[in-house]
Amino acid sequence: MAKVEKDISREKSGQLFEEAKGYFPGGVNSPVRAFKSVYGTPLFIERGDKAHLWDADGNEFIDYCCSWGPLILGHNNDAVREAVAEQLHKGLSFGAPTALENKLASLIINNNQYLEKIRFVSSGTEAVMSAIRLARGYTKRDKIVKFEGCYHGHSDALLVKAGSGLVTFGETSSAGVPKAFAEETIVIALNDYEALKQVFADFKDQIATVIIEGVPANNGLLMQDREYVQFLREITQENGALLIFDEVITGFRLGFEGAARYYDVKPDIITYGKIIGGGMPVGAYGASNELMSHISPDGGVYQAGTLSGNPVAMSAGIAALSILAQDGFYENLEAVTQKFVQEIQAYIAQKEYRVKVFTIGSIFWFAFTDQDKIQRADEIVHESMEQYKVMHRELLNRGIYFGPSGYEVGFISAAHTEEDLSKTIIALQESLDVVFAS
Ligand SMILES: *Cc1c(COP(=O)(O)O)cnc(C)c1O
Repeated sequence: MAKVEKDISREKSGQLFEEAKGYFPGGVNSPVRAFKSVYGTPLFIERGDKAHLWDADGNEFIDYCCSWGPLILGHNNDAVREAVAEQLHKGLSFGAPTALENKLASLIINNNQYLEKIRFVSSGTEAVMSAIRLARGYTKRDKIVKFEGCYHGHSDALLVKAGSGLVTFGETSSAGVPKAFAEETIVIALNDYEALKQVFADFKDQIATVIIEGVPANNGLLMQDREYVQFLREITQENGALLIFDEVITGFRLGFEGAARYYDVKPDIITYGKIIGGGMPVGAYGASNELMSHISPDGGVYQAGTLSGNPVAMSAGIAALSILAQDGFYENLEAVTQKFVQEIQAYIAQKEYRVKVFTIGSIFWFAFTDQDKIQRADEIVHESMEQYKVMHRELLNRGIYFGPSGYEVGFISAAHTEEDLSKTIIALQESLDVVFAS
């Protein structure tokens, strides 16, 4: 199969991008949207419905980015849209409590064995930043441990990457983060038992918390063994440190109870974002009553938000989570995803292409490798991203929208139909043929 003759038209998107560059750094309000890691310029989206997107030039796509995870019900879901529309007539924000917050909280807490109390915020970044502050305030310790390859939003403490050596202080991964902050964050490799033991030996009684993504899914899909996650639970407990699961992606994605349930490991604090707001800006962190009693106004750990618990956003969250809480929702979505992945894997095997499709729940990730397992960030071959770039362009030309970077995972929503998925399989087969033709 040859490369499609002509790239899709990006005339209007191109013009809008030129204009946007005059307004925003890099023409965008979040860096990865700038299409720096793939061919061409960003598509400006006009409309979404179910699993489909339309851009400013009228191109139609089947969407596997799903707004980077939140849209597990697809675009323009009837129940979510109607709930939001109803609330719009009553007011956008009051800065006072509403019954809607109770409703979303009860839906979450009554269906989650790992939480007793939560606090709503407006983004995943805010949820994690606040969870870290809670862990520090509760333990009265300053240092935190994170893993190379896990993303936890853009707060200062977490914009830190590994230094050289097995266990060293982190180095800032962004300009503007004080060195002194980075020295409070220790960054180690995933799936490395020894590094973790050494951290707790070297910094005895200094570690407030270890934070890990439920399943690391921001830098490829780095699936961890259950034993390792259990080991995290044990070593933190033995050392008086808290364990945070950052479930901003995995929460309400791997199941209503997320990765905690998947591993059957109870973390001390869980953070949410993305799906929890049904497409609106919502984040949350939650823990036991005891831990959460340390949050203001009950306790001394300060955290607040003008638009926290926003009624329109809460309405969207309630509508979305009510559907997710129904029996069989996740089983169906996972079965659909498994079938899709197996079909494409069968094609890859038949053609003996050097690419793997890793998957969990309704998440998938294409890795151009022959490794059977990738569990650490440094096991990803950066050169392989060139192949992703080619696949990405070929897919766009065939009406399939994947995230604009080979480090990003794809998501399947409940709105993806059998027809959408069969079309995508054909497009993937043709695109992989192009990738491996050269
Ligand atoms: C997206 C993400 C965040 C940041 O959430 P924002 O809403 O973008 O601030 C934090 N942690 C994880 C695991 C994420 O995937």
